[in-house]
Amino acid sequence: EQAALVASWSGPGATADGVPIAILANVADGVSARTATQSPVQGVGLFRTELAFLDRATEPTVDEQAALYREVIEAFDGRKVVIRTLDAGSDKPLRFVDTELEPNPAMGVRGNRTALSHPEIRRGQLDALAAAAQGSAAVPWIMAPMIATVDEAREFAAQVRDRGMIPGVMVEVPSAAIMADAILAEVDFVSIGTNDLTQYTMAADRMSPELASLTDPWQPAVLALIGMVGAAGERTGKNVGVCGEAAADPLLACVLVGLGVRSLSSAPAASAAVGLKLGTVTMQQCREAARAALAATSASGARDAARAVTG
Ligand code: PEP
Ligand code: MG
Repeated sequence: EQAALVASWSGPGATADGVPIAILANVADGVSARTATQSPVQGVGLFRTELAFLDRATEPTVDEQAALYREVIEAFDGRKVVIRTLDAGSDKPLRFVDTELEPNPAMGVRGNRTALSHPEIRRGQLDALAAAAQGSAAVPWIMAPMIATVDEAREFAAQVRDRGMIPGVMVEVPSAAIMADAILAEVDFVSIGTNDLTQYTMAADRMSPELASLTDPWQPAVLALIGMVGAAGERTGKNVGVCGEAAADPLLACVLVGLGVRSLSSAPAASAAVGLKLGTVTMQQCREAARAALAATSASGARDAARAVTG
C-alpha cells in the first residue's frame, strides 16, 4: 500500500499546511538529467560537473563543456537548475587539475581551492556555463564546492554575477556553517552538502565503512550546524537547500525543513518517498521534530525523537 502511495506522489513538494519545499534531483550528465525528468522533481539541485570528466587526461574545451551543460539545462528548461563548479580532488580526482600528490587530500587542494592554482580552469568553466545558459528560459544557479571562508564566497560570487548567473556556495565545511550569515550576505543561496559536512564535523572519512556510525547526518552536532545555516537563511530570506544524501531520508527531511531548509536534492529515486512524507507533516511538527532531534545526545536518539513527533 505504501509502495502504491509512493508511486502515485507527483509533487510539487509542500508540508501538510502548504509551505513549499522544492524536491530536486542530483544529476551527473544529460542522460541522468533526462531520466530525472521522469521522477516527481521540480528541477536539479546538484549537477556534479566533475563526474563527466573523471576519465579525462586533459581539460575539456569551453565548447565541449558548454555542450554538456546545455544538455542538463535543456532537460529541465525553465525550471530551477543548480550547477556545481568542478569539485576536483579527494574522492573525485581529476587528472587535469590534481597534479600534486597530497598526504591528506580531503583536507587539501580540492573543490573551489583548486582555483587558487588553476584560476583559468574555473574561468573556462564559468564561461562554458554562461554560454550554455544563453537562450534558456531560466538563469542557472551556480555554486562552488568546499567553501571555507567569506572571502572565498565573495570572490566566487563576483565571477558568477559578472557572467549574468545566480551565485551560491555549498556549506560542507563547519567554518562555512558557523559563518553562514556573513556568507549569505555575499551570495544568493547556499546548499548544504551533508556528506562532506558530516565528514568534516565528525572528523570521520566518509569512505570508511568502519566509521558509518560517525558519518551519520543524524549526529546532533551535524544537525546543530545545519540549524545555524537554516536560521541564517530565515533571517536573510535566501534559499537554504540540502543536496547530500541526508535529503533522501524522509524522516530526516522533516527535521531539515524544521531547521529552515527549503529545498531537498538527492538521487531522484528518493524524491517520491520524501515528498509524500513531507505532505503528512505541518511546519510546526517539523519544527518540533527539529527541536527534539537537536536536544538528543546521539544519532539514534535524534532519530527516535523525530519519529516520536512526526510518526
Ligand atoms: C556533499 O558533500 O554532501 C555533496 C553533496 O557533495 P559530494 O557528495 O559530491 O561531495
Ligand atoms: Mg561534497
